[in-house]
Amino acid sequence: MTVLYDRVALIGLGLVAGSMSLAMREKGLAGETVGTARSAETRRIAEEIGLVDRVVGTIAEAVADADLVVLAVPVGAMESVACEIGPHLKPGATVTDVGSVKRDVIQTVGPHLPEGVHFVPGHPLAGTEHSGPRSGFPTLFVNRYHILTPPDGTDPEATARLRQLWEGMGALVEEMDAEHHDLVLAVTSHTPHLIAYTMVGVADDLRRVTDSEVIKYSAAGFRDFTRIAASDPTMWRDVFLSNKDATLEILGRFTEELFALQRAIRMGDGELLFDYFTRTRAIRRGIIEAGQDTEAPDFGRGGVVRKPGDTG
Ligand code: NAP
Repeated sequence: MTVLYDRVALIGLGLVAGSMSLAMREKGLAGETVGTARSAETRRIAEEIGLVDRVVGTIAEAVADADLVVLAVPVGAMESVACEIGPHLKPGATVTDVGSVKRDVIQTVGPHLPEGVHFVPGHPLAGTEHSGPRSGFPTLFVNRYHILTPPDGTDPEATARLRQLWEGMGALVEEMDAEHHDLVLAVTSHTPHLIAYTMVGVADDLRRVTDSEVIKYSAAGFRDFTRIAASDPTMWRDVFLSNKDATLEILGRFTEELFALQRAIRMGDGELLFDYFTRTRAIRRGIIEAGQDTEAPDFGRGGVVRKPGDTG
């Protein structure tokens, strides 16, 4: 493939940035990748495993002369990073991010970027419960959606080039309004994570009563919850704090439905339960038909080879 950006700077060297770097290298999409992270330990590991072409010690050094700057830090750290890169950006450069929330990132990052720099926010709907510099793999984005949320007035050429980069890494790229993105993700990702965290918390409380039975007899449903609830605490704290409105809206609806099902169980209303479960089963079929998961009994995630999950 052709080189789309001569120099790409990755701020943060975790799961998403690492996977991007490996994918860009495999597909020859970047002339050079330069990366930095907050801690010396992460930078040392990145250097040791050759995660990027060049690891540097400061954000200023990383973005100097970069054609594309990718903010791949937790959402709560985006503003301080944007503030730091602002004065060092090359005119005409594109800045993007991979944060799981979009409206908040646009509001906090946008004002720190100088005139003449293009800001094209984005979010890959791909992830695993793993984090850190050793967790990335080049196929993370293959056949996964990447949502771009360019604010009104964004340079179409900058958006088109970034789209090409993500498509080059195997992603299916869509564009939508940031607010819409946050609502959709509150339904498909953020609230399910909160439910998983809660369910595992409840089971943990119960364990004190039932000893190790929760672990011993953990069936597929619960095991899947534990996988999701093992996701990075910093990342997910920031997601809920920054996508507060949409998450609260969906949680409100969820609670209402839960009460309806609770009542059906109490009243012995089997018809309601059966109809509800029939409707939800069709949704699962739709996801499989759209190629976003497999029919495998372990949801395609088991076995030796790790496959991308649905986090983020
Ligand atoms: P990660 O593996 O935990 O990596 C985060 C990286 O950010 C680390 O290298 C960390 O450095 C660095 N960092 C943290 N705070 C920083 C700061 N103040 N200044 C500079 N660097 C800092 O996280 P990730 O999973 O790649 O997530 C990154 C972003 O992608 C998040 O915004 C998240 O919402 C989004 N996202 C995640 C997923 C997912 O499933 N994980 C999916 C889609 C999108 P140290 O290691 O030195 O602390």
